[in-house]
Amino acid sequence: MDNKSQTIDFGKWVGVNGSADQLKRLKSARTAECTPLELYADEQRAIFSGSHGVYSTSLEECTCVDFKRRKLPCKHIYRLAIELGLIGGGASKDKSRIVAPAEPGMSFTAAVDKVEQLSLNGQKVLREILLDFAYRSKDIHKKIAGCDYSEVLNSGLVEETPDGIITIDELKSERRNLCIYLGRRNEDEDYYDPVKEEFLSFPKGAQHYATIDIGLGVSSSKFGIEFPDDKITAELDKRGLNRCHAYNASRRK
Ligand SMILES: [Zn+2]
Repeated sequence: MDNKSQTIDFGKWVGVNGSADQLKRLKSARTAECTPLELYADEQRAIFSGSHGVYSTSLEECTCVDFKRRKLPCKHIYRLAIELGLIGGGASKDKSRIVAPAEPGMSFTAAVDKVEQLSLNGQKVLREILLDFAYRSKDIHKKIAGCDYSEVLNSGLVEETPDGIITIDELKSERRNLCIYLGRRNEDEDYYDPVKEEFLSFPKGAQHYATIDIGLGVSSSKFGIEFPDDKITAELDKRGLNRCHAYNASRRK
C-alpha cells in the first residue's frame, strides 16, 4: 500500500484508493463541476447532478454509471467524503450549482402577508378550505358549487388538482395556525351574557380574562375579552386587526 492510499482511506474503502484510476476520480471530485446539489451531512449523503440526471450518493454507494460498473468509489463518493472532512485537501465549489434544500416551510408571517392581500371574501373561501385540512381530517377540499376560488388560487397558497383544492406543501406546518388566524380575524361567535341576560356576539376564539361572578354581578367594565397569547394574536396585533380591543372599548362606555 502506498502513502497516498493510506491518507485517503475512509469508511469501507480501505486500500483501494491509490490506483491511477481512483486518483483520477479523486482529482475530478475536487473540481467545481463536482459541487453537490444538496448535502445532508448528518445522514452522510448528497445529491449530485451529472450527464445522466441526478445521482444519489452515500459513502458506500452511488447511483451513477461509474459506480454501478466498477463497484469502487466514484468521484461523487470521493466528493462526499471531502465535504464530510473524511478526505483532506478540500475542493473547489461552484455556488451557482448549489440548490438550497427544499424550504422546510413558509413562515407564518409570510403566509399571513399573502392572506392579507386577499379580499374578505377570498379570506372566507381560504378559511373554508383550511378547515377541511386543519379540523376535518380531509386531504383534499372538494370544491363547493357556486364558490369562486379564483382569488385563493391566485394567492399561491393553494393549488387545484383534478379532484379538488389542496394547500401547497410549504404551508403544511402553518395551515392550522392560518385557519385560526382567519377565524379570529373575521368570525364571531355567540355568547350568553348572564349579567345582561342576552346573547352577545364577540370575536371567535376570544376568552374572557376576568371571572364573572354572577352572584355579585360584576359590572361590564370589570372584564373584557382577549385572544390567547400566541403568535397568531401577535400577527393580529401587529396589523391592527385584533378585534378584542375594539370590543372591550365599546363595552366600557
Ligand atoms: Zn457516482
